[in-house]
Amino acid sequence: MAMNTQGRPSRPLHTPDPGAYQDTFSGSRGLDQAEQLIFERGHIELTGVDLPEPKGAMTRLGGLEREAEIGLPGLAEPEAMRHYVRLSRKNYAIDLGLYPLGSCTMKHNPRLNEKLARLPGLIDIHPLQPQSTVQGAFELIGELARWLMVLTNTPAVAMSPKAGAHGELCGMMAIRAALDAKGQSHRRRVLVPESAHGTNPATAVQCGFFCDEIPADKTGRVDMEAFKAKLGDDVAAIMLTNPNTCGLFERDIKAIADAIHEAGGYFYCDGANFNAIVGRVRPGDLGIDAMHINLHKTFSTPHGGGGPGAGPTVFSEALAPYAPVPYVVREGEGWKMVEHEAEADGEPFGRMVAFHGQMGMFTRALSYMMSHGSDGLKQAAEDAVLNANYILARLKHVMTPAFEGTCMHEALFDDRFLSGTGVSTLDFAKAMIDEGYHPMTMYFPLVVHGAMLIEPTETESKNGLDRFCDTLEALALAAQKGDTERFTAAPVHAPAKRLDETRAARSPVLRWEKPADEQAAAE
Ligand SMILES: *Cc1c(COP(=O)(O)O)cnc(C)c1O
Repeated sequence: MAMNTQGRPSRPLHTPDPGAYQDTFSGSRGLDQAEQLIFERGHIELTGVDLPEPKGAMTRLGGLEREAEIGLPGLAEPEAMRHYVRLSRKNYAIDLGLYPLGSCTMKHNPRLNEKLARLPGLIDIHPLQPQSTVQGAFELIGELARWLMVLTNTPAVAMSPKAGAHGELCGMMAIRAALDAKGQSHRRRVLVPESAHGTNPATAVQCGFFCDEIPADKTGRVDMEAFKAKLGDDVAAIMLTNPNTCGLFERDIKAIADAIHEAGGYFYCDGANFNAIVGRVRPGDLGIDAMHINLHKTFSTPHGGGGPGAGPTVFSEALAPYAPVPYVVREGEGWKMVEHEAEADGEPFGRMVAFHGQMGMFTRALSYMMSHGSDGLKQAAEDAVLNANYILARLKHVMTPAFEGTCMHEALFDDRFLSGTGVSTLDFAKAMIDEGYHPMTMYFPLVVHGAMLIEPTETESKNGLDRFCDTLEALALAAQKGDTERFTAAPVHAPAKRLDETRAARSPVLRWEKPADEQAAAE
C-alpha cells in the first residue's frame, strides 16, 4: 500500500480509497468530499497557466540541469482551490471545537490579536531595516519583556527563543555558562522528575549534561526524600515543571529551590504551565533561576503542527549576566538593539537566532495581555483551573482520576476504569473522534498508566464542557457495558479509519512514488 508523507496509507491504484467512505458510490459522504493526494490527481499538463517556452535562454547551470521530468503535480485554479479546501475540511481545529490536549493549552485566540499582528506598520517591516525605522517594534518587544518580568518577578528576560524547547535550551545554556564562569564545570548531573515533558531531558543532554530521574511520590509530586538524597557537588540543576505535568502544584517548590541552591545548583523551571498561575504566583518568588514562557500557550497564539511559537526565558539575578544577545534597551528617547556580545553588559553565552525572535507572536501576546489587564489574566488562570476541576468532578464517578484531590489546569485520568473491558486508552481516544472530539493527550505523563490528560482551558463555556463530559461519560459506560467494538473499530465516521500507527512509525514511507502500473503506462 502506498503511504503519504505522514506515513499514512494513501489509495493504491484501482483499490478503494481507505480514506474514503465505503458506503457510497463516490467515496464522499454528504458534503464531505473524498479527496486523493495531489500527486494522484494532478499532472503538470493540467496546470492552469501556460508559459511560453523561453527563446534563446542560455543555461548557466554548467551542465547540471535536470534531464528527467520533475514530477510536480499541476491543477487548474478551481481544482487547486477545491483540493485544498477539501483537505482543510478534514482538519480538526480550535475554531471548530474543543481541543482538550493536555500540556498543549489549545485555547481560543482572540481575533483582536490577529488584527493587531497584521497592522501594516508591524507586518511590513524587515529584520534588516535600519534600527531608526523600527523603533515601534523595539518598543513593543521592550514593553512585552517588561510585563514578562513583572508577571514573573525576575530581573531579566531573553526574548529570542522561538519555542518552549528553545527557551529550555536558552536557560540550560545560561546555567552551563554560569557554572563554567564559577569554575564548576564538573557539575554535569541534572535532576529531572520522571513526569517531565520529554523536552527537559533532551535539552539537558543537548547541553552536555546527563539526567538523573527523581521519582514521584504517591500524590504525583516530587518525592522530597528521594530528591534530597540525590543532591551532591556534581549536580548542575533541577528541571522542574510547575504546575507539573500531572496538573498538580508542587507544594514543596520553595524547599526544592532552597535545597538545590544550597547544594550549589540552579533551578530551571519549565514554565509551559504558567497559564495556570499567571497573575496569582510569581515564579521569581519561588526561587527559580530560569524559566521559559510559552507565549503560544499562556498568551493565546494559534499553534500546533510545528509552529509558530515563542519561548522567552526569564532569569534570576544569578543568571541574568549570561542571557544571550540580542536584546533591546532604551537609549535616550528611543530604543536600540544590543546585537553583539562585546557591546553587552555581562557575559552573554552567545546568540541563538539570526534576528530577534517571533515578532508576530510578540504582538499577539502583548495584545492579549493588554486587553486582559492584570485582573483579566488572573481570572483566565482561575477559570482554567475551575474548568479542569469541573471536568474532574463530573467524570470521577465513571473514569478514574490518577491522583486524589483537586487539580490545577488539567485533569489527569488513568485507565483503571477500562480494566477488564478490552478497551485501551488508544481505543477510547479513537472513539472520541467518532463523537466529533479531538482526543485528549494520551499516554503522557508516563508515570500514569494509560494516561488521559485533559486541559479544557478557560475559553470553553460550561455548555461546551457539559456536552464533552456527557460524551465521555457515555463512552465510559459503553466500555464498561461491553460495547467493545465501538472502541476497537473506531474511528468509523472519520475520513481516515484506524491506521496502522506502529507500522507507520517503525517504517515510515516518506516519499510518494507513482504506482508501478501508472509508471509503465507513462513510458
Ligand atoms: C509544550 C511544552 C513544552 C515545549 O514547548 P514547545 O513550545 O512545544 O517547544 C515543554 N514542557 C511542557 C510541560 C510543555 O507542555
